[in-house]
Amino acid sequence: MRKTVVENLIKNAADIICRAKHVTAFTGAGISVESGIPPFRGPGGLWSKYDPGYLMIDYFLGNPLKSWELIRELFYENFGRAKPNLAHIALAKMEERGLLKTVITQNIDYLHQLAGSKNVCEYHGTYRYLRCVQCGYRLTAEETHLENLPPKCPECGGVLKPDFVFFGEMIPEDAGRQGLIEAEKADVFLVIGSTGEVMPAAQIPHQAFMNGCKIIEINIQPSNFTNVITHIFLRGKASEVMRKLARYLEIEL
Ligand code: NAD
Repeated sequence: MRKTVVENLIKNAADIICRAKHVTAFTGAGISVESGIPPFRGPGGLWSKYDPGYLMIDYFLGNPLKSWELIRELFYENFGRAKPNLAHIALAKMEERGLLKTVITQNIDYLHQLAGSKNVCEYHGTYRYLRCVQCGYRLTAEETHLENLPPKCPECGGVLKPDFVFFGEMIPEDAGRQGLIEAEKADVFLVIGSTGEVMPAAQIPHQAFMNGCKIIEINIQPSNFTNVITHIFLRGKASEVMRKLARYLEIEL
């Protein structure tokens, strides 16, 4: 696509955002790729190297040591070093300026909050906390030594599990509710770096679309949303497109 066409699309998206009453961002693993965290699916995705079966809840409960060896490497050794990129920062500044109400993220990496976003719905939970599978006690991952796996609950000795949603687990009730509320309230959804394959999260933008919401999407390639519900598709890396969008929104990064 010609450069001017892309610029016009971004300008058009900025105009729509400025006129909107309630803008909600919906983010997936793609927004954190430029922070050095690979996605699960797609080019360079973790599932081309690792077996996702280790993150099935039933497998974890039967084989916590095996699951934890992968979890420690993937999430606790990698995520700790990651920093928010321009896309996270632009969203935080949009919120500060009153141009964005909420971020619904499927990510568990805490980068939106580190960038300064306040109203964040962690739809799949977070890696920063652990929860005991036996008594429900919750503590930060920092309070726990991950040298000896699997980590054990200081209260009852049960196995600790990262407080994010494993395959086969339910979405936390509050997050599920907030997703539906945003789909109802928003008149613009800004969908960034999501395949639209992960259910039930992917239903949220669809629900918003059915409620009459405009869908603006940023991705390096078309997703399951693109030809179905997306009104404006901004092709490119999240940080590059968000940098240009911020310029049209007169936001300094
Ligand atoms: P996903 O739906 O989150 O898809 C990743 C998407 O990002 C793809 O559509 C890909 O084209 C796009 N993308 C890649 N690089 C990009 C870039 N630089 N800019 C814009 N878009 C880009 O799917 P997934 O990766 O399979 O993740 C499955 C679930 O696991 C999701 O809930 C996801 O959020 C979570 N997950 C979280 C993290 C994290 O917390 N950072 C990392 C991996 C997976």
